[in-house]
Amino acid sequence: MAEPTTLIIIIEDEPQIRRFVRAGLEAAHFTVTEAATGTQGLMDVGTRRPDLLIVDLGLPDMDGIDVIRDIRSWSNLPILVLSARTSEAHKIKALDVGADDYMVKPFGVPELLARVRALLRRSARSHADDEPNVRFGHVEVNLLLRTVTRNGEIVHLTTIEYRLLTHLMTNAERVLTNRSLLRDVWGSDKADKINSLRTYMSSLRRKLEEDPTAPRYILTVSGVGYRFVLS
Ligand code: CA
Repeated sequence: MAEPTTLIIIIEDEPQIRRFVRAGLEAAHFTVTEAATGTQGLMDVGTRRPDLLIVDLGLPDMDGIDVIRDIRSWSNLPILVLSARTSEAHKIKALDVGADDYMVKPFGVPELLARVRALLRRSARSHADDEPNVRFGHVEVNLLLRTVTRNGEIVHLTTIEYRLLTHLMTNAERVLTNRSLLRDVWGSDKADKINSLRTYMSSLRRKLEEDPTAPRYILTVSGVGYRFVLS
């Protein structure tokens, strides 16, 4: 029996980058469809329902940010942004409107494939039956009982710490901006809360990471926010 195919759509106006990305993905046995404009890409995503979207921010007919915003109004499809824009403001904007991750050009195929696999794993997990236990390292979180153990011993988390942890776990592999964390966990994205966000993150690391100074699960994305990785 043939393996079910995983379809990835690339929206990118530069033909050489499309070819490069396509070759890398096809070598890893993904099925790939290309679109050179935002309009074509939006149509393809709507009709072909891909498993993942790769989108460039600088498109000839519209801004990639608007492509992401449009798709997010009706789909949870994983979105990976490719961008020549290196400024943090652009990355943050793309993440804030709903992109899951971004890569800055130029990039290599191994990194691209690693990001694609991570996003697909996360998306598969979010579709799986709700599993009350989530494990990472020596930590086990029971979402039903709201208990957290580390090496079998109960870890006491404050309400905010627990909410922050479950939000990170639900969004594993995604880059979460400081602003979106403040908005979704605290209900306010006021910049003056950034310091308390930092404090809560270091407290979570102290309680959960083997080595809080070299975290394996709660990672800082410099200048942008955080990424929680399960593996
Ligand atoms: Ca472009």
